Amino acid sequence: MSNKQAATEIIRRLQQHGFQALLAGGCVRDMLLGRPAKDYDVATDARPADVMGLFPRTLAVGARFGVVIVLLRHEQVEVATFRSEAGYEDGRHPTEVRFTSAAQDASRRDFTINGMFYDPLTEQVIDYVQGRADLDRRIIRTIGAPQERFGEDYLRMLRAIRFSTQLGFAIDPDTYAAVRRNAFQIARISGERIAIELEGILAHPNRARGAAMLLETGLAQAIFPGFAGEQAEQAVGVLSRLRGKVSFPLALAAWGAGFPTDFSLERCEILKLSRRQARHIEFLLAQRGRLLDPEMSLAQLKKLLAGPYFWDLYELERAVQKAVRAREGLAALSRLRRRIRDLGDVDVKPRPLLNGHDLIHLGAVPGPALGQLAEELYVAQLEGEVQTPNQARHWVVLWLQEQRCGGQ
Ligand code: ATP
Ligand code: MG
Repeated sequence: MSNKQAATEIIRRLQQHGFQALLAGGCVRDMLLGRPAKDYDVATDARPADVMGLFPRTLAVGARFGVVIVLLRHEQVEVATFRSEAGYEDGRHPTEVRFTSAAQDASRRDFTINGMFYDPLTEQVIDYVQGRADLDRRIIRTIGAPQERFGEDYLRMLRAIRFSTQLGFAIDPDTYAAVRRNAFQIARISGERIAIELEGILAHPNRARGAAMLLETGLAQAIFPGFAGEQAEQAVGVLSRLRGKVSFPLALAAWGAGFPTDFSLERCEILKLSRRQARHIEFLLAQRGRLLDPEMSLAQLKKLLAGPYFWDLYELERAVQKAVRAREGLAALSRLRRRIRDLGDVDVKPRPLLNGHDLIHLGAVPGPALGQLAEELYVAQLEGEVQTPNQARHWVVLWLQEQRCGGQ
């Protein structure tokens, strides 16, 4: 059972019990565009308690706001009571919701193309906001006055750019002008919410266009203070040369590629990325230029190759060199590729010949020195200097002797 079938089953059941129930929002837009939707959301006039009474397995995640998750087979479907949101005190969160009609539920949504409903049983589109016309004209337009709608939730400005980027739609001039006017207000939105939309823009193949809009509207500067000028323009050039869909950390590294590493990393802090993502970006930015070094030893290359982000680093470097039209840099990357190819089937990430226990058994003392020993031994292994466990043991004994002599 697909998510769409699950949503349709839920709608059938709700309607059988006399409720109004429809597919809503993004999935209707995507169906009309002939694209697969990420998830199928249901909107209904049934109250959360009614929904929970009708379906045996539900999660009352946002029942207070009218949202219940219904579990059907292995699918999860969001079932939301028609609502209007009121009292956006801080330009972020509605302070209360009121249960209302489908028409009013449509008018609280962000953009006309996201404000339609669809009845999968009668196959009818229900459109209170002229979403169909904007979909046909490929336009992103707020439902109602943009100034007011952005004032309720400034995240919508970033969402406008995300949808424009992902769908390849233009943003209606009035809507766009309001984004420019209000861009500085984005700082009031939480980093986590900003990060989600930013990922949608920068990881998408059409990212260069989205990035150009972020700069032009002033959103880029408002999110990342100091992100302006020639170096910021360079970001668009680098982003446009990344291939296809990329990871968010790679996209952010490309976005910051015109600036010093520390500057970019500090600016990314606002996004509250996971530690893993932050490390990923840091690696990519800090290792810039590394792949261009003709002197890189075999061990260094193998170590880099064995790491998780090697091909992201390669992709970033290629995009940077292309953006600045550096023939030599591109030639260096081609040489590196040949070098990697010529490594053939060599295992680039062999298991260490000895583990920590082995090293301690040989007389190494647990602590920082043990780590250093393990590291140096691994390099010797990658260089081909030691090839068997026996050779490794011999190597370790010598290393420990040298340490002891050196330490005295
Ligand atoms: P995607 O396919 O990328 O998920 P979507 O349109 O489904 O796009 P969601 O963020 O999943 O976007 O939101 C679902 C629907 O909820 C939207 O289509 C829109 O109608 C409404 N919505 C979401 N966020 C907002 C918001 N900040 N302000 C107003 N309406 C919103
Ligand atoms: Mg969605």
